[in-house]
Amino acid sequence: MKQNIAQKLARPAILKLKPYSSAREEFTGNEGIFLDANESPFNKPWNRYPDPFQQRLRQRLAEIKGVERENIILGNGSDETIDMLFRTFCEPGKDKVLSVSPTYGMYKVSAGINGVDYETVLLNEDFSLPVEQLLEKSDKNTKLLFLCSPNNPTGNRFNDDDMRVLLEKFTGLVVVDEAYVDFSSAGSWVDALKEYPNLVVLQTLSKAWGLAAIRLGMAFASKEIISLLMKVKPPYNVNTLTQEKALEALSDLVRVKKRVALTINERDIMMKALSVISVVKKVYPSDANFFLIRVDEPDVVYDYLLQRGIIVRNRSNEPLCRGCLRISVGTPKQNPYLLKVLMAYPVGLQESQGSESWKSISDWLVTPPRNAVRMRKTKETEITVDIDLDGNAKANINTGLGFFDHMLEQIARHSGCDLSIQVKGDLHVDEHHTLEDTAIALGEAFAEALGNKLGIERYGFALPMDDCAAIVLLDFGGRPELVWDAKFKREKIGDLPTEMFQHIFKSFAIGAKCNLYIKAKGENEHHKIEAIFKALARAIRMAIKREPGADFLPSTKGLL
Ligand SMILES: *Cc1c(COP(=O)(O)O)cnc(C)c1O
Repeated sequence: MKQNIAQKLARPAILKLKPYSSAREEFTGNEGIFLDANESPFNKPWNRYPDPFQQRLRQRLAEIKGVERENIILGNGSDETIDMLFRTFCEPGKDKVLSVSPTYGMYKVSAGINGVDYETVLLNEDFSLPVEQLLEKSDKNTKLLFLCSPNNPTGNRFNDDDMRVLLEKFTGLVVVDEAYVDFSSAGSWVDALKEYPNLVVLQTLSKAWGLAAIRLGMAFASKEIISLLMKVKPPYNVNTLTQEKALEALSDLVRVKKRVALTINERDIMMKALSVISVVKKVYPSDANFFLIRVDEPDVVYDYLLQRGIIVRNRSNEPLCRGCLRISVGTPKQNPYLLKVLMAYPVGLQESQGSESWKSISDWLVTPPRNAVRMRKTKETEITVDIDLDGNAKANINTGLGFFDHMLEQIARHSGCDLSIQVKGDLHVDEHHTLEDTAIALGEAFAEALGNKLGIERYGFALPMDDCAAIVLLDFGGRPELVWDAKFKREKIGDLPTEMFQHIFKSFAIGAKCNLYIKAKGENEHHKIEAIFKALARAIRMAIKREPGADFLPSTKGLL
């Protein structure tokens, strides 16, 4: 009988092996009185052994990955599938495996445990594959070639053409470890299984899926390879809790996609930002959820970070990685903290990078954006407020009330904020809801844009004089309050009823959670209300001013 490549490469002992047959294998129904496995009849459902072949889970994975169930074997983490490959294909003391350096450490450990020689070829300087040298180094006893792509710790994905040359010319199995494939822009080698009978692809739920704790690894390969591995795997290697948790995670692909997109976005921001911090000499490209940076004193920087609660991986003793620290991408809160800590490293920010991205990145680092979009929809009004506290006094205001627009424009002009306010209100009833809801939404937008309020001035005051005097005192202290001392004699100014003025500022104070003290005097009613809006804008301008990069709160309570 003609042997397939899997059989040709397998250890003779495994070819001969008659695998353990479990009780759950010999009878596979769900119904009945199970007296076959010496399980306890109590403590359901945990009294039963797990499905040894993980049929439901493998079926779901088959659908997701576009293969058949028989192309999949699962392990207690991909580390177990690596071990299965050794035990199935490598004769201790005789066979060898090959990989590159630097790469994932587990191949070497697993080889050592299994008494199999582990050989490596150094990657090229740019971390690409040394294809010719790998082929030269292999012979008929070289059973496995491990290629981790995207590679750990270098972060890069290997070139497709290089991979194809190796898949075609290497005489053993090519094991592509895709632990990080979800973060890479290119696809998976699982799609090439039909083309290459010697291809094995490893994946895991430990990284992108956020499930390192449940230990679920996957190997994808031809049915021939999988059926041999199946003989070797421990009968109940994937427990019931893991199978169920994995099925739950695999039922919501959108959630993981979102997380991956967020991580990639954070990674790209981090890599750009780090490249302008002078302690960082180089940021290496990455297709993964981590990347390498090179620094001059890796041990010192490592300890410096550690003292500030940040743990990275020091890879500076790995070949080709002198000075390198490996950094996993964290959350949108953790990442800026790392940047801040590295910026405070004695060598600080580079004075001038000259690159166009330098200014925007350094601005972003020192002063994170303070903008907000606030949408408010009720039966009476529909409002969108879009604000940037660090804008250029641009205003785009349409409330349907000409005079109110004119007043709100004063806020943008004199506070320096960019402000867009679009309102559809029930003006056919009267102005009340439009004025009130707009003021609340504007206040809320300020509160949101102020964010954590770190480093702001907090207080503002102003007293513009024309023929009218208006005094506004403002405190973004977190409590809403209005003290109002202004009288208007006319019933309306433009299309605004003057009786609403006090209510507008009260609503703003509630939305923005600020204290307002407003006092105005004068004869001309139009000028008087305009003076109040101008003074408010000036007070806002003063109060929102912040110290770039400051991390203090202007409060002894520690809370604003
Ligand atoms: C993290 C990692 C794995 C994951 O192993 P599990 O046992 O599935 O957690 C596999 N390969 C590489 C290269 C890794 O970095």
